[in-house]
Amino acid sequence: MLHTNSERLHEEALEIIVGGVNSPSRSYKAVGGGSPIVMEKGQGAYFFDVDGNQYIDYLAAYGPIVTGHAHPHITKAVTRAAETGLLFGTPTPHEVKFAKMLQEAIPSMEKIRFMNSGTEAVMTTIRVARAYTGRNKVIKFAGCYHGHSDPMLVAAGSGPSTLGTPDSAGVPAVIAADVITVPFNDLDAYKDALDKWGDQVAAVLVEPIVGNFGIVEPIEGFLQGINDLTHEAGALVIYDEVITAFRFTYGGAQDLLGVYPDLTALGKVIGGGLPIGAYGGKKEIMDQVAPVGPAYQAGTHAGNPASIQAGIACLEVLKQEGVYDYLDKLGALLEKGILEAAAQYNVPITINRLKGALTVFFTTEKVFNYKQAESTDSEMFGRFFKLLVEQGIMLAPSKYEAWFITIAHTEEDIEATLHAVDQAFATLKEE
Ligand code: PMP
Repeated sequence: MLHTNSERLHEEALEIIVGGVNSPSRSYKAVGGGSPIVMEKGQGAYFFDVDGNQYIDYLAAYGPIVTGHAHPHITKAVTRAAETGLLFGTPTPHEVKFAKMLQEAIPSMEKIRFMNSGTEAVMTTIRVARAYTGRNKVIKFAGCYHGHSDPMLVAAGSGPSTLGTPDSAGVPAVIAADVITVPFNDLDAYKDALDKWGDQVAAVLVEPIVGNFGIVEPIEGFLQGINDLTHEAGALVIYDEVITAFRFTYGGAQDLLGVYPDLTALGKVIGGGLPIGAYGGKKEIMDQVAPVGPAYQAGTHAGNPASIQAGIACLEVLKQEGVYDYLDKLGALLEKGILEAAAQYNVPITINRLKGALTVFFTTEKVFNYKQAESTDSEMFGRFFKLLVEQGIMLAPSKYEAWFITIAHTEEDIEATLHAVDQAFATLKEE
């Protein structure tokens, strides 16, 4: 496979865009270096790069794409938005309709606000929780990524950890001092943290199903335990559902798992591919937000007509009967095939999968916390990644990310992927 144009464009980008990429996780630093593939077009389950190569896409833009690229229903909605004015700075009817759709799907969001990214959504839930409780400290779990607001860059997950810089420069020590980090799936450690600082804690941030050190589900009783202990301490529970909402079910992971937070942050899927973020929760807590309450949050592009209409269209597609069963069916096929190929070539892997999202870890151990994900074989993942790319299979260039299946993928795509995986494992064993 030739990548001449990608390489040339990356060289050019390096001259003008920092690191040649607009988000660090797009660089190939974590997979042994090289030029990122530059994509020209996405259509359904496929990517087409600037050298004319075609790929089956499992990157899904790091989560937002569930319908496949350029889904006609979303394209129509975005076109309509462009034709009727992209930005008004006034309320629009669409945002009310969309808020109602979200609330119907995730009933714990009694009141909602829209913004433009997951980072903003999480950042604001923290401010609102601090305003509501009058406390400053927040707890997060090691390896979970919650966007790049200052407090959330303490022991952050996929992006920063992949690059080996868990604590970002430029984050003041006083801000980091208010963030407590605890291992995921360890209720005793969580209890210890609350025993020590509970009366100063405003909130705990949780990815109810982790997406940022691979797909990692909470062990039985973990989320309920967090809810009980947090509320006992007078603090709030915030679910970061930026990856999980509408990825595993039509609604949040909270609806799948039956444990409910006080506040929820959303992003990714709910924009149908356009930039979006949203947060919401209990009415009395959300009433802290301006203009009703004293906690400020605003945005020129917040609730912009294009993102909102794309989001409505995306949810309309995902609400159709059978969507999540279909993703589960393809996910199971992919998981089974990868495990069989690994067994055949004696490649040590573990797969964590939920429905249409899975992570292949190069380890024989089970992975249910960040430390275990971190200790998996990075070098082997890097080689596996490149062997797949060369065969037209596109993944995220990091061992901490998930493969995401969309409704545009077919059984034939899975078969083609498994053929490539088979070849990749055979080569890995030979090298
Ligand atoms: N929370 C989670 C769980 C995420 O995975 C991400 C992005 N990967 C964010 C927040 C930040 O979202 P955004 O990139 O839209 O700012």
